[in-house]
Amino acid sequence: MGAIEELREHQGTVADKCREMGELLGLSEPVSELVLQAALHDSSYAHNLLATRRNAAFLQYLLANPPAVPKQQEVEAKTSLQLVKKASEAMWKWAKTGFSTVDEAVLQKRYNTCMQCPNLQDQTEQIVYKVFSGTKQAEEKICSLCGCVVANKVRLPTEACPDRHPHLPGVNRWEEPIEQRG
Ligand code: SF4
Repeated sequence: MGAIEELREHQGTVADKCREMGELLGLSEPVSELVLQAALHDSSYAHNLLATRRNAAFLQYLLANPPAVPKQQEVEAKTSLQLVKKASEAMWKWAKTGFSTVDEAVLQKRYNTCMQCPNLQDQTEQIVYKVFSGTKQAEEKICSLCGCVVANKVRLPTEACPDRHPHLPGVNRWEEPIEQRG
């Protein structure tokens, strides 16, 4: 089952999601299904869309050039499904917070922790994380537990490190309380 089919089954129609995403981006019309699919598969693309929603020229460029989404059979099904759900959750939750980001001290602490974490890994060929041009190599690394691009994940107040701290009880590796997520 592909990303769009998953959405259709669990979260309403694809047309609804295209319209909602258009509204989130301040557009008068829905985004295309290609843009929606790319945003769900590629957290960097979603991040860039949201971050540039007030820059009309840049936003239009991104909308006209969504990164290619791999065919379902070309990716490991389980990993792909997890990524779709995670990317979708991250994008919509971020939008609900008013696109806020954590303060610089929190960002640095999270980022430094991720950079030293054994769960950090480079992109794999199975997962398409086409990062918009200008992104540095270090910012392309992903968390192997959740599949997120850490450079984006650490900025978002709605995100949480998925791994328990190896020494401190009750907190994750970012030393933030472990959330009970429904
Ligand atoms: S989010 Fe947590 S588990 Fe993932 S790389 Fe960062 S510190 Fe490690």
